[in-house]
Amino acid sequence: MATQVASGDRRALARSITLVESSRADHRQMAQSLLADLPRREKPALRVGLTGTPGVGKSSFIEALGLFLIERGLKLAVLAVDPSSARSGGSILGDKTRMEHLSRRPEAFIRPSPSKATLGGVGRNTRETILLVEAWGADVVLVETVGVGQSETMVADMTDIFVLLLAPAGGDELQGVKRGIMEMADLILVNKADGELKPQAMRTCADYHGALRLMRARPGDPEGFPKAQTVSAYTGDGLEEAWNAVEALATGRQQSGTWDARRAAQAQTWFSHAIEAGLMARLERDPKIAAHREELASKVASGELPPDIAAETLLDSFAPNPILISNDS
Ligand code: GDP
Repeated sequence: MATQVASGDRRALARSITLVESSRADHRQMAQSLLADLPRREKPALRVGLTGTPGVGKSSFIEALGLFLIERGLKLAVLAVDPSSARSGGSILGDKTRMEHLSRRPEAFIRPSPSKATLGGVGRNTRETILLVEAWGADVVLVETVGVGQSETMVADMTDIFVLLLAPAGGDELQGVKRGIMEMADLILVNKADGELKPQAMRTCADYHGALRLMRARPGDPEGFPKAQTVSAYTGDGLEEAWNAVEALATGRQQSGTWDARRAAQAQTWFSHAIEAGLMARLERDPKIAAHREELASKVASGELPPDIAAETLLDSFAPNPILISNDS
């Protein structure tokens, strides 16, 4: 299947993604060997994270940008990380009517967030899916998320460049964008800079540009980043400038070495996450441990046992701790 995916076969790609999304043990084994068989790319794809609250125009923007990139001879994949689908099984980002034109193009591959998984599970699926779409030939991988919960951090941790999409604000308030998200953003794009909304979009952009200036530039980034620009998904104004900014940042980071450093750090982070998630899954799968856990949990709830002691007791029954070193020894 790896060869089929690498030859650009969309159906093989879709099947492979379904395989990596499965948590069945035999599927995991197949997924592992599939991922190991994927050919290495010569030129890495550009992974771009995109966030913005519903209504700012993410689908419209992705559609416009996607068609623009295809014009330039690039292939792209759009993946969604949607915490609401992780919770409820219903996906905001999975709506089939989104990106109607883009979804019909053979150069684009669009995949909604896997449903009925934990956020951590969605993280693993998405990381593995990135590898699959890159093997399929995507030059650009857009990973989209809605502006809620921890999904932004997760997406920023799996992409090279993180873009925050905003709509023109009414007053002079900074739209309640959380500081943490501002700090993650490499590029803020104020969408809907067209028609009557244009002056407002320009003001919003200037406000955010000012706010970004107060933040520390990331070492190794070219002059002027992070920055804010306006764009219109409707008219296409600012689209080329937005893409130029993404490319300038990518090139700058590749030249300064921070690109590789970021990917290496991300790989380490995911390695740790995967160990934690795997341990938890194994703990939960063992019926004896699960029963023991419940028993300890009720003791913790009643105050009979301190939580940390209870946790240690449970872990000792799972994997005995050979040498206990206390913090102050
Ligand atoms: P999403 O929820 O973030 O995916 O946003 P949508 O792409 O569905 O857009 C939300 C609304 O904003 C829709 O009514 C769009 O027609 C409108 N919209 C999106 N992009 C633009 C734009 O560039 N200019 C204007 N004026 N409206 C836009």
